[in-house]
Amino acid sequence: MIKDPTTLFRPNIAALTPYSTARDEYEGKLGIFIDANENPNENGYNRYPDPRQTELKAKLSSIKGVPAEQIFTGNGSDEAIDLCYRVFCRPGVDNVVAIAPSYGMYTVSAAINDVEVREVLLDEEFGLPVERLLEATDEKTKLMFICSPNNPTANSFDRAEIVRLIESFDGMVVLDEAYIDFAEQRGFVEDLAKYPNLIVLQTLSKAWGMAGLRFGLAFADKRVISMFNRVKYPYNINVAASRLVADMLDCDIASQVTEIKEQRTRLIEFMNDLSCIERVYPSDANFVLVRTDDADALYNALLADGIIVRNRNRMPMCKGCVRITVGTPAENDQLIASLTKYDTQWQQK
Ligand SMILES: *Cc1c(COP(=O)(O)O)cnc(C)c1O
Repeated sequence: MIKDPTTLFRPNIAALTPYSTARDEYEGKLGIFIDANENPNENGYNRYPDPRQTELKAKLSSIKGVPAEQIFTGNGSDEAIDLCYRVFCRPGVDNVVAIAPSYGMYTVSAAINDVEVREVLLDEEFGLPVERLLEATDEKTKLMFICSPNNPTANSFDRAEIVRLIESFDGMVVLDEAYIDFAEQRGFVEDLAKYPNLIVLQTLSKAWGMAGLRFGLAFADKRVISMFNRVKYPYNINVAASRLVADMLDCDIASQVTEIKEQRTRLIEFMNDLSCIERVYPSDANFVLVRTDDADALYNALLADGIIVRNRNRMPMCKGCVRITVGTPAENDQLIASLTKYDTQWQQK
């Protein structure tokens, strides 16, 4: 049953009186600003940022087709993940359910907030374990973390199965769409009006090429977004980042995304022919997960050639697995050369 999200807020958070900034009380742009103890000499950065990110959200609203009041902007998705815990989960009391293997911050943030995580292994072939996820919940389960396309498995989950979770779970479904720009199927941002218990996370760190600027997004019911805004640090996005993000949002990333997807196909086809690689998993993201008989050996061989990949050998269900991000065509040339060399050695072993 889809719940009213306001009934899920932690009681102390629902009762919070947020910090009120000077600029919250006065909306105008003109005037003499002697309210915030800033240095009055204009240098481009002497003023505090807009805590509501009004201009950026207007821009994001038109790009994403979501009303500004349903958009949260934060210091990376990691801030939004942490806010999910802080807004909904009572430390030491509530729990969350999350798929595994998946993104590490769901469990790190849970541990920091003293919230139990019930990890549910994916099905064979990395499918979404809908029934087992629902069975893992109880009346204290406030959040369910799903990541699609999933990191590190690279696959998207079936939309109908995600819908089944949203419609059956009594808490908030947090759907991480960090890699949605590389996926074949559409995400859930346009379905938000139907699902008040859905929080969709996106980021500018991947397809948009702004990992260094630290800018993450959450889309949800306006009452949830309003609560995130009350709990966040007032000035979580700095003036320099917000100007650069606003400019870079005008760039058309479509051709870069197309090239990355073409290079992904190239890498998958190449690695499918290698003896040292047992399995190349299908990818809906900008990385490829491969399985080999000795992930540490493959990892070290690439490292010796100056190529750093992500060793996922020790993650659940990922024994022997290495995650490889799609680089530039020239970087992929080097990766292919290094893998060719390793494969020859491997065959002589
Ligand atoms: C990279 C990634 C993010 C992005 O985190 P930021 O803090 O926005 O850089 C979020 N979720 C997943 C699954 C990721 O892989």
